[in-house]
Amino acid sequence: MALPLTADVVVIGGGVTGTSIAFHLARMKAGQVVLLERSHLAAGSTGTSSGLVRMHYDNPLEAEIALKSFEVFRHFDEFVGGDCGFVQTGFLRTVKPHNLERLKANVAMLQALGVNTWLVSGEEIHEMAPYLYTEDIPFAAYEPDSGYADAHLTTMGFANAARRHGARVYQGTEVTGFDLDGDRLRGVRTNEGRIATGTVVNAAGPWGGLVAAMAGVQLETTIMHHQVAVVEAPPEVPWPHLTVIDRLHQTYLRPETGRLTLVGASHDNYALTPDQLDRYSESLTYETMYRVLEHLCARMPAMEAGAVRKGHAGIYLNSADKHPLLGPAPGLEGFYCAVGCSGHGFKEAPVVGQAMAEMIVNGRAEVVDLTPLRLTRFEEGEPYRGAHAYV
Ligand SMILES: Cc1cc2nc3c(=O)[nH]c(=O)nc-3n(C[C@H](O)[C@H](O)[C@H](O)COP(=O)(O)OP(=O)(O)OC[C@H]3O[C@@H](n4cnc5c(N)ncnc54)[C@H](O)[C@@H]3O)c2cc1C
Repeated sequence: MALPLTADVVVIGGGVTGTSIAFHLARMKAGQVVLLERSHLAAGSTGTSSGLVRMHYDNPLEAEIALKSFEVFRHFDEFVGGDCGFVQTGFLRTVKPHNLERLKANVAMLQALGVNTWLVSGEEIHEMAPYLYTEDIPFAAYEPDSGYADAHLTTMGFANAARRHGARVYQGTEVTGFDLDGDRLRGVRTNEGRIATGTVVNAAGPWGGLVAAMAGVQLETTIMHHQVAVVEAPPEVPWPHLTVIDRLHQTYLRPETGRLTLVGASHDNYALTPDQLDRYSESLTYETMYRVLEHLCARMPAMEAGAVRKGHAGIYLNSADKHPLLGPAPGLEGFYCAVGCSGHGFKEAPVVGQAMAEMIVNGRAEVVDLTPLRLTRFEEGEPYRGAHAYV
């Protein structure tokens, strides 16, 4: 399929964010919507995402985005079409001792927003999940409805729905530059030719800083590397087990199809420089594997008899305050960004896509107010922060 000569909106990036934006734009009749992906759909962060879907945040805006997105994951066929592979497991969030009072305040904040969550004591957790070691947990946040979804299925669902609404999706098409006329965007240059357009959405994930820089827009971001181990659970581990974000061990874990447990080694995250973007290691190192297994066994002792099946690593983009960068770029009319989701953008993509499309089509996001996540917040001295942010 040859590239069109013109488009009303060009979305850059075929991950879960870009496909969700393209779907909502097409659904809202934004004209000819074109999505450009340099590799294949879900080739970036999305392809390695652990897919946790929960609503616990330490700030009300992302909690609201996650809560409204959760409805989409739960009823994906109705809202988007097809199956996103959502599995409800129940979810537990521990915090370090110095954050326990903040945890209480955040659970109250989440309850006021309508999230089905409450505090559970170590004893209550033990009753609910005797396979978890709980002596070091005075209390934690619990969400019975949460779980995980399949990041590939979700992305394909959005892409197919976008196509059904008339959007055109081009894989193997890399954006290499922009045509500008002063402070106005005129077109997108790619390895396959040029598209004249006045509106572009940068949803290029970890490459989002580079894509913005091509248009002369500077974003303050850091590329992060994150490893995940996949462990075969022994018969002693009941199935499926809870999904847990275990801040006491800087890990998270969730069940995976085939009696596997996926464990995120957040303790070994590290920053990459932009020149390392296309040559980072996609493997789990032995060093990290041993460390993450130690943490897993400390929380789930029966895993001593588990076996590592495989592992992988992926990258994501942090913003300066670790909250997404969503909205128009200052100084370049028609250039929007939806990047910097800081390691938690999968669960937010359904509503981020809707809000970005509303902003482009109607002039403002209606499903949620994205103002606190605007790109200019840093130079205005207003980085986003919840009242009880974990430290
Ligand atoms: C290992 C790992 C585990 C994670 N676990 C979770 C989790 O449990 N829950 C959660 O909510 N979030 C999680 N995240 C974060 C989440 O996966 C990301 O926030 C989300 O997938 C970002 O999607 P995206 O579409 O914005 O970016 P991406 O998926 O990275 O998509 C960007 C796309 O842009 C393309 N692109 C780049 N440059 C160009 C160009 N010049 N021209 C055209 N195309 C271009 C890339 O090829 C890529 O496909 C995790 C991330 C990682 C890495």
